[in-house]
Amino acid sequence: MLQLNFDLLKFIAGPDNVSTGVFDLESHSRDESFHQPHLPDVVVWPQSSVQVSEITALANEKKIPLIPWGAGTSVEGNPIPVNGGIVLDMQHMNKVLEIRHKDFQADLEPGITHRELNKKLRGFGLFFPPDPGAPATIGGMIANNAKGIRTVKYGSTKDYILKLEVVLPDGEIVKLGTNTTKSSSGYNLCQLFCGSEGTLGVITEITLRLVGLPPEFMAAVATFDSVERATNSVFQIMISGIEPAALELLDSAVLRAINRDKRVNLKEKPTLLMEFHGASRLVLEQDLKLVAEICQDNSCLGFDSGIGKARREELWGARYNAFDSIKRDNLGASVLLVDTAVPLSKLGEMVQFSQEALRRTGVKGYIFGHAGDGNIHLNLIGNPDDKLQWGLVQRVNEEIVNHALDLGGTATGEHGVGVGKGKFMLKEHGSSLRLMKKVKQLLDPQGIMNPGKIFE
Ligand SMILES: Cc1cc2nc3c(=O)[nH]c(=O)nc-3n(C[C@H](O)[C@H](O)[C@H](O)COP(=O)(O)OP(=O)(O)OC[C@H]3O[C@@H](n4cnc5c(N)ncnc54)[C@H](O)[C@@H]3O)c2cc1C
Repeated sequence: MLQLNFDLLKFIAGPDNVSTGVFDLESHSRDESFHQPHLPDVVVWPQSSVQVSEITALANEKKIPLIPWGAGTSVEGNPIPVNGGIVLDMQHMNKVLEIRHKDFQADLEPGITHRELNKKLRGFGLFFPPDPGAPATIGGMIANNAKGIRTVKYGSTKDYILKLEVVLPDGEIVKLGTNTTKSSSGYNLCQLFCGSEGTLGVITEITLRLVGLPPEFMAAVATFDSVERATNSVFQIMISGIEPAALELLDSAVLRAINRDKRVNLKEKPTLLMEFHGASRLVLEQDLKLVAEICQDNSCLGFDSGIGKARREELWGARYNAFDSIKRDNLGASVLLVDTAVPLSKLGEMVQFSQEALRRTGVKGYIFGHAGDGNIHLNLIGNPDDKLQWGLVQRVNEEIVNHALDLGGTATGEHGVGVGKGKFMLKEHGSSLRLMKKVKQLLDPQGIMNPGKIFE
């Protein structure tokens, strides 16, 4: 039993901001993944960096696990409190502190979601491009280095961090980074915390770089009779010099699931869903003409670029919800999410290898992903209680991730290591995994921060 002093936590954060109620514990025991839920001992909603610092120092002194929590939308078990302890839910620290629109910068607290932030930025003609589709917080996005459909043009969350305030495991509050978009001054400590999955400290304040909202948007849908023709087109679009703002691949199984769930009436054939952003319609129309030619050279079955705003929003809504549509297509089953990314020249080979693994083993799977980034999500369906079937699902997962690593890829393009990808870390990082462990040991010698993540 933890030596937790609930009265002291209530004194620090206020009695209404500390809970051991069943609903609160359960809703902080799981993320959106299939990974085994685990109850924390207590949930605290801090209101300030000073409160975070006091709670962290207390946890450190008593060696109590401390797990920062954003919106719990992770898909790799990243915020699950596998050893219990204190969950620090950051969602009450959700203010935009200042928007300096002439500098393209905003200061904010970590609990604001990217959607809320973008609503506030719209009036200034600015936006924060990374968009994982789920209502994630900026703190959680930094901690997982989230990406999404727009990464192919705009980059990842890591590319937008200018400054961070972080509470270290011993309670010290440190400020990292500068207000300039370029600096060669010293180690880049902001990037150390980006992708650290809450294992090194708690992010309590953020300065983001922003970009101007593009004046024109256009979308296109291309269908093919094989995934290979679709992936060939991806490569040729990317090398043509055109910069799609989104370039997504969906296989026939995914199309079937979203048609059934969202009634979007798309052809159930391998499909590329694309978006283009630009300064004028004329430029975008020229880009789309070239993209259409590339798809036609790859014998596409159909190319539709006359898509109005309402249809565009409907299609992206369906794409964002693909994970949920797949879950609803398989009620009662679990979804193991493979998240490999490979160098672009290997995308076709990776998709073919995945299809072959599904055919050979008979495991049910859905292939989609951010093809322009070489990032494939293969959703594998099974029942963890059926040991034989789940063993096969695990085997397919391991074969595919190992193949991606052999091709120079990564075990996780965007979801993070969490609970499920730790077993691939040594193969992916070799001796530099030792360096990561040394960093963890230096910053968190008691091992209180989000234990059981990143390292097996
Ligand atoms: C339908 C769906 C689609 C998705 N699509 C994508 C996608 O396209 N791309 C993508 O990248 N992700 C995607 N995700 C995954 C998820 O949205 C991201 O990983 C997101 O970054 C999680 O943010 P969150 O606020 O929910 O954080 P949480 O899940 O609550 O936490 C994430 C991690 O960050 C840590 N953390 C949270 N806040 C802080 C803080 N203030 N300080 C330090 N550590 C902190 C937690 O301990 C945990 O390890 C998707 C999820 C869903 C459900």
